[in-house]
Amino acid sequence: MKRNTWQREAVREALGTTEGFVSAQALHSAMREHGSEVGLATVYRALADLAGEGQADALQQEGEALYRACTTTAHHHHLICRRCGTTVEITAAPVESWARQVAAENGFTDPEHAVDVFGLCANCSRESA
Ligand SMILES: [Zn+2]
Ligand SMILES: [Zn+2]
Ligand SMILES: [Zn+2]
Repeated sequence: MKRNTWQREAVREALGTTEGFVSAQALHSAMREHGSEVGLATVYRALADLAGEGQADALQQEGEALYRACTTTAHHHHLICRRCGTTVEITAAPVESWARQVAAENGFTDPEHAVDVFGLCANCSRESA
């Protein structure tokens, strides 16, 4: 067991209690408010690890990496509100077959992809109408 496993667990747990996407910095300060002493660098690393293992979603927004605990570890996609960050987990069967097909047509094997759709959620759409 790695020495910093408990810190990683703490990060995973904290991420699970937040709604929507958060930056490492925001998660770190939330954890500090609850008395955690996990360092910012550890939070960054733990979030990157979790995303790499498929336990968290990562996305780039305005140059910053944002993370969110996924409700499922199965492959899926997201609809993300660019104003309030509301996120809906979606499956995208047409994308799956398209990705496989276009990879095969070009001689690629073991294709992976990440597809997130950004827009305004129903609430934000109403507000801006
Ligand atoms: Zn997800
Ligand atoms: Zn919204
Ligand atoms: Zn997919």
